[in-house]
Amino acid sequence: MNPDRFRDNLNAVRARMDEAARRAGRDPSGVTLVAVTKRNPPGPIRLLVDAGATDLGENYPQELWSKVESLAGLPVRWHLIGHLQGNKAKKTLPMVRMVHAVDSLKLLRTLDDLAGGLAEPPAVCLQVNVSGEDSKHGWGPDDLPRDADSIASCRNIPVVGLMTIAGYGTTPDEARPAFARLRDLRDGLRTASGLALPELSMGMSNDFEAAIEEGATFIRVGSALFEGAEG
Ligand SMILES: *Cc1c(COP(=O)(O)O)cnc(C)c1O
Repeated sequence: MNPDRFRDNLNAVRARMDEAARRAGRDPSGVTLVAVTKRNPPGPIRLLVDAGATDLGENYPQELWSKVESLAGLPVRWHLIGHLQGNKAKKTLPMVRMVHAVDSLKLLRTLDDLAGGLAEPPAVCLQVNVSGEDSKHGWGPDDLPRDADSIASCRNIPVVGLMTIAGYGTTPDEARPAFARLRDLRDGLRTASGLALPELSMGMSNDFEAAIEEGATFIRVGSALFEGAEG
């Protein structure tokens, strides 16, 4: 493992983030990089944090739990970016800054009940299946307005925005309309629910610049940070 490689990768991603923000007339500090550490063991993750990563994302609750334990004491905030089963929510909530992919009203209500017992519950984003692929979780774009009142009635868990995954194998230019659509859906849900919904979690290694240009406030980047670091 090569510590310099992590520093180089992180600097390269940050530079591309800054340029994308400037192209869109946005303040680069309005975009948080979540470094996706799934499938990587604690050793390389420590090097990535030494290189300056502050926010780490995991897909699977159990993998998150074990890394929170094995990396205890590192100055990082954890994010769950994948599917959360209701029966894993109680243990997960106190560990994370944000749950990115709340994919049903049922789960949101479970989180709302649990959040009532927490001094500082994490924020959550609602996952929208903009691309309509069967393999993806989340609200269909047309279902969000219907649930606006139910979403707004969850007052313990802070619902701060929307999240999506662009279609697999799409180019950044193909992904861009999905990102723009998520922003429009957010604007619509904001009006319908009265929630501020400032956050948009969208963009991965392949397409994060397009996501930033379309308004992403959290990007979730894995392979661009770990590539070449084995050598
Ligand atoms: C794996 C994953 C990412 C990161 O993907 P890369 O292409 O490696 O940057 C982002 N979001 C989710 C939900 C993921 O599962």
